[in-house]
Amino acid sequence: MSHPQDSSTPDPATAAKPSLAGLDRGRLGAALSAVGVPQVQLKMRTAQLWSWIYARGATSFYEMSDVSKELRAGLAAAYSLNRPEIVREQISQDGTRKWLLRLARGGDEVRQPEIETVYIPEIDRGTLCISSQIGCTLTCSFCHTGTQRLVRNLEMAEIVGQILLARDRIGDWPAGRIGESSPRAEAAAPVRSTGERKITNVVLMGMGEPLYNFNNVRDAMAIVADGDGLALSKRRITLSTSGVVPEIPRWGEEAGTMLAISLHAVRDDLRDKLVPINRKYPIAELMAACRAYPGLSNARRITFEYVMLKDVNDSVADAKALIKLLAGIPAKINLIPFNPWPGTTHAASEWEQIERFAEIVNRAGYASPVRTPRGRDIMAACGQLRSESIKLRARERQAAFR
Ligand code: SAH
Ligand code: SF4
Repeated sequence: MSHPQDSSTPDPATAAKPSLAGLDRGRLGAALSAVGVPQVQLKMRTAQLWSWIYARGATSFYEMSDVSKELRAGLAAAYSLNRPEIVREQISQDGTRKWLLRLARGGDEVRQPEIETVYIPEIDRGTLCISSQIGCTLTCSFCHTGTQRLVRNLEMAEIVGQILLARDRIGDWPAGRIGESSPRAEAAAPVRSTGERKITNVVLMGMGEPLYNFNNVRDAMAIVADGDGLALSKRRITLSTSGVVPEIPRWGEEAGTMLAISLHAVRDDLRDKLVPINRKYPIAELMAACRAYPGLSNARRITFEYVMLKDVNDSVADAKALIKLLAGIPAKINLIPFNPWPGTTHAASEWEQIERFAEIVNRAGYASPVRTPRGRDIMAACGQLRSESIKLRARERQAAFR
C-alpha cells in the first residue's frame, strides 16, 4: 500500500529566497556577512545558525531564540531554510519511505530535476539512502537508475538537504521543535520525536555515482559528520561506488567514511558487461585500491555488494572465485537479490541458489547477509530508483549488454 501525497505549495514569501539549509560554515558566514553582520561577530553567529539548522532542525529563522530580533528579520527577508520540495511521499507496507524530491532548476536545464531518497527502518537501526547525482552516467545492466541520463551533480546543500528533509518527515529532531512557527513543517503533518534517534546510518546508495561528484559529496559528508550538528559518526556513513578506482584512495584520505564496492562479478569479461566502468578500471586494480584503503581492520571492513542475477553470476564456481578474490581484505559480502524493474532483461536468482552461494561464502569466514529487499512495492529497493521526469534509454543500454 502506498500513500502518494502531493507536496504543500511552498510558502510564497520564502519560495524565491536562497536556502541556507545544507550550507557549510564558510557559506553561512558569507550569507551572514551579506546581511550586515560585522566581521567580529561572524564566528559566533555562524555557530548559532549551525546549531539551529543542524542540531535542532530549524525550518524558520523566527525559532532562533538566541539570535536578535533584528538579525532574525534580516535573515528571513533575504533567505529561507527550505529543503528540497517533496513531489511525492510513498510509504511501503514494510515501513520503508520513499520521497520524490524536486530541486531548483539549474541554469541550462530543460526539465525540473528530481531525485529520490529512501528511509529504511529496521529494529536496531534506521538507514537513509541518499542520492548524489540526478541520474547516472554509468550504465550498469541491472540498474534502473542507469537508464536515466545524467542531468547534473547534486550540490552540497542538495545532498545534505535530503537528510534534513527526512528528519523533518519522520520526526527525527529533538523533541518540541517540529511545528513551531513553521508553515512548511506544519503542512508536512508533524510527527513527534520519541527522543531516540531514527536515522542512525547514511548510505550513498541512491541515484548516481558519488565518486563522480567527489567534492560536493565530501563536503556534504563533512557536514553530516560534524559533532556540533547532525553528528553522525563516519563509521555510520557508507559510500558505495561502482569502482572509480583513482578516487578511492582520495576518498579514504579526505572523507574517511566506510566503503562499499559494487562488485557483482568476479571475472573481467562478465564485469565488463554488468558494470561497464570495469573496462576502464578492471578487477585487479579495484582490488588493489581496496587493499590500500586507509583504516581497514576487522572492525572496519569493506562491504562488497553482489547482486544475484539468475544464471549470470550466481554459480557455485562464482562463489568460490569470490572468496579467492577477496582473500586478505577485511570484507563483508552483501548479497542482494535482484530487484526487477520494468523493461529489464535480468531475472532474480532462485532463493535456493542464493542460499547455496551464501553458505559457501559463510563457510569461508565472511559475514554474508542477504539483503532483504525493502520497499519493493513502492519501487524503493536497491537499483529501482529513477525519477520519471527523465527520458528512458533502456534500449540503448540493453543493447550494450547483449
Ligand atoms: N552508483 C553507486 C551507488 C548507487 S547503487 C554504485 O553503483 O555503487 C547502490 C547499489 O544497488 C549498488 O550496489 C548497485 O549495484 C545496486 N543495484 C543496482 N541495481 C540493482 C537492482 N536492480 N537490484 C539490486 N541491486 C541493485
Ligand atoms: Fe550508476 Fe550505481 Fe546504477 Fe551503476 S549501479 S548505473 S553506477 S547508480
